[in-house]
Amino acid sequence: MIVVLSGGVGAARLLRAFEGVMNRDEITAIVNVGDDLTMHGLTICPDLDTITYTLAGLNNEELGWGLTGETWRVMDELDALGGEAWFRLGDRDLATHLYRTERFARGATKSDVAAELAHRHGVRERLLPVTNDPLATIFVTDQGDLSFQEYFVRHRHGIPVHSVRFAGAEQCSPAPGVLEALREADRIVIAPSNPLISIEPLLSVPGVREELRRRRRDVIAVSPIIAGAALKGPADRLLRELGHDVSCVGVARYYREVCATIVIDELDVDRRAEIEELGLSVRTTTTIMANREHARALATEVLA
Ligand code: GDP
Ligand code: CA
Repeated sequence: MIVVLSGGVGAARLLRAFEGVMNRDEITAIVNVGDDLTMHGLTICPDLDTITYTLAGLNNEELGWGLTGETWRVMDELDALGGEAWFRLGDRDLATHLYRTERFARGATKSDVAAELAHRHGVRERLLPVTNDPLATIFVTDQGDLSFQEYFVRHRHGIPVHSVRFAGAEQCSPAPGVLEALREADRIVIAPSNPLISIEPLLSVPGVREELRRRRRDVIAVSPIIAGAALKGPADRLLRELGHDVSCVGVARYYREVCATIVIDELDVDRRAEIEELGLSVRTTTTIMANREHARALATEVLA
């Protein structure tokens, strides 16, 4: 069994890549919930949904989020009514949030709903939210404390961030199965997700960082930073703003306590020695999952 510490898109792509090289039933994803929000009274779990949709082959490739073949009649109508329509939710996607919210009202947990939705979509990987308790990523900016989606969607991650915190982290407990999975995994993979806002919230859940430290030798990370830039999103900008080196070396330094091996891109091969000096082993391959062949090569390298 392998465990994959997961954000959204970067993790979903790697999880899908594993399908070609190992048994899907032997993969457990521990998924970030720091981006989760309530909108129109509905609970939305963007990273869990991205992973579920991607593994079901239903993800919208053009948008990079949501479902394929989506329509927007509800949002358009809401906009026309003067309602809050800045956070776009497609018509089909809304069904997911209606389903989840109704199940919560009947006492189900995030773990229950993640498993149910995965099952309905034929996803065989086990998807575990890192916690069932409230955990919210907050961006401290000149405009005050912003919620994840205010920063990400409303401001298009275009304003300076002074710091990031995870409200609720100290009080929350790992969801059922999370620590057990980390203890029992043959290998733990840190997906090429945003270190500061996708992986750090997972590490901030009591017990998770400690377990990773203990398993350090079996933990392998894939760098989301290639040739000094993120493929998508604000990982590079946030690393810079929060004082980290914007490179695979910066990522390695960030993870060095919890991870013994890092996979970096071929384009960064000249940084290998710097990372080795930090006490990590380095593997090099194509890490851009631009097509099936490259994704498979990366998955193979991670499992080697
Ligand atoms: P989000 O929660 O949807 O924002 O996604 P993640 O945090 O999981 O992933 C965002 C990160 O994934 C960005 O920093 C990207 O650079 C990285 N990423 C996306 N696709 C790839 C890929 O094919 N290869 C690698 N190495 N990184 C990727
Ligand atoms: Ca996310």
